[in-house]
Amino acid sequence: MEVEPFMNWLNFIYFLSAVFFILGIKGMTDPRTARQGNFIAAAGMVLAVVGTLLRKEIVSYEWIIIGFIIGGTIGLLIAIFMPMTRMPERIALSHSFGGLAASLVGISEYYRHGAEMGNVKIAAIGFEVLFGSITFTGSLMAFGKLAELIPSRPITYRFQNQSNILLFFTTLFIWIYLIFNPSASHLFYAMVLLCFLVGILIVLPIGGADMPVVICLLNSYAGLAASATGFVLENNILIIAGALDGGSGFILAILMSRAMNRSFGNVLFGAFGAISEELKQKQDEFYAGKIKSTTPEEVAYLLENARLVMIVPGYGLAVSQAQHVLGELAKYLKSKGVDVKFAIHPVAGRMPGHMNVLLAEAGIPYDDLLELEPSNNLFPEADVAIVVGANDVVNPLAREDKNSPIAGMPILDVDRAKTVVVIKRSLAPGFAGVPNPLFIKENTLMLFSDAKQGLQEVLNSLRGTVSRLH
Ligand code: NDP
Repeated sequence: MEVEPFMNWLNFIYFLSAVFFILGIKGMTDPRTARQGNFIAAAGMVLAVVGTLLRKEIVSYEWIIIGFIIGGTIGLLIAIFMPMTRMPERIALSHSFGGLAASLVGISEYYRHGAEMGNVKIAAIGFEVLFGSITFTGSLMAFGKLAELIPSRPITYRFQNQSNILLFFTTLFIWIYLIFNPSASHLFYAMVLLCFLVGILIVLPIGGADMPVVICLLNSYAGLAASATGFVLENNILIIAGALDGGSGFILAILMSRAMNRSFGNVLFGAFGAISEELKQKQDEFYAGKIKSTTPEEVAYLLENARLVMIVPGYGLAVSQAQHVLGELAKYLKSKGVDVKFAIHPVAGRMPGHMNVLLAEAGIPYDDLLELEPSNNLFPEADVAIVVGANDVVNPLAREDKNSPIAGMPILDVDRAKTVVVIKRSLAPGFAGVPNPLFIKENTLMLFSDAKQGLQEVLNSLRGTVSRLH
């Protein structure tokens, strides 16, 4: 059989773009090459889009151009104006649209060819619509929780997990039924509606801080839906890109759960992070009379007399946007001959790589960033460890209390440093909702302040001391 020369060219373009995607992902495995990886992947996407636009099946470019202008403008505005700390929300929103797009393609194909479809094609379309629709509403819910448009705490009710599982299996059952009876259109549309509902209900019991794991998982669903769309539209690059997306989202979700030492099941069904009034009261008793507060001046004194200072950033750093002043402080201390290192926990903050991105934004060199293990090896040598808006990732309960919700979570052993300074606004717990014995340790001092303000005062005090001396 003779293959059209154009199809040969198109497949070659698609092949090149797949190679670009893979090289792009490879580049993103290291912070030094991540930016380059992003460009390579984007170039792959340009190739894929241009190749697809050259296809003969395209009847007119009118709507494509209108869509390109509207979508491109929105994308550009988001890229320019969305702050780094709101990245998880942005990602949730774009996944949601990705899911909706896949779902709409499937629905329109079914509407056009419905009953005449073969079993394989209806299986692919059903799969695409199923995962696309769940991704659409699930990601919208994730966006709403992260943006606090809806309560970010877990919302639970009786028999919630059981009813969700039942609903999900009902949709699966309808999908299988449709494979053998493609003409049952009422069931097809009922499946779409049920999937929208499943997306909403499965995200309800998950707490706001677990949203990044949910987003990664929904990302992998969106990838699977896109891959199925590729089968439906007979588009090879969509199949490949969808599979890459699906695989990488799933792997990332697994890595994040592992870094928290929590199972997938616990993240998805555990309603983690629901803090009860009773627990709050217990925490007050836990700390009563055992806290040592400090002042910015005292912290400045400790820092200027230290040889090695290790800084542990956490979610509070991002909330208060304190990365720039932290960068200035580190630069200042280094200029005075103090060795400064940053200890980065894999799930510090609220999204993977959150701290790396913030610290890079503040111009802190990658070589000063240490991962969990090297950090823990170095803490006993540190004169001062400063914890900035971090809580769960430095909570020794994870090591000491088998019954704690964070038991077994690998943590940064800051308590092994000679002196620990914790900068946070109050004794409020972190995302896991448990008290932190670090705050009452013999060698811990609490600086109760907003991270940015506290660090600025410490820096002012350091500069003041020096100018007084000269
Ligand atoms: P935590 O959520 O444990 O604690 C953050 C602390 O920051 C709070 O105790 C809060 O105390 C403080 N804080 C908030 N705002 C400010 C501010 N303006 N200035 C100073 N401090 C502030 O954060 P960690 O980074 O230690 O841990 C991350 C948690 O999120 C872990 O439980 C992790 O499992 C979870 N998680 C992380 C994901 C990721 O990908 N990174 C994904 C999913 C979950 P206070 O109110 O007293 O100031």
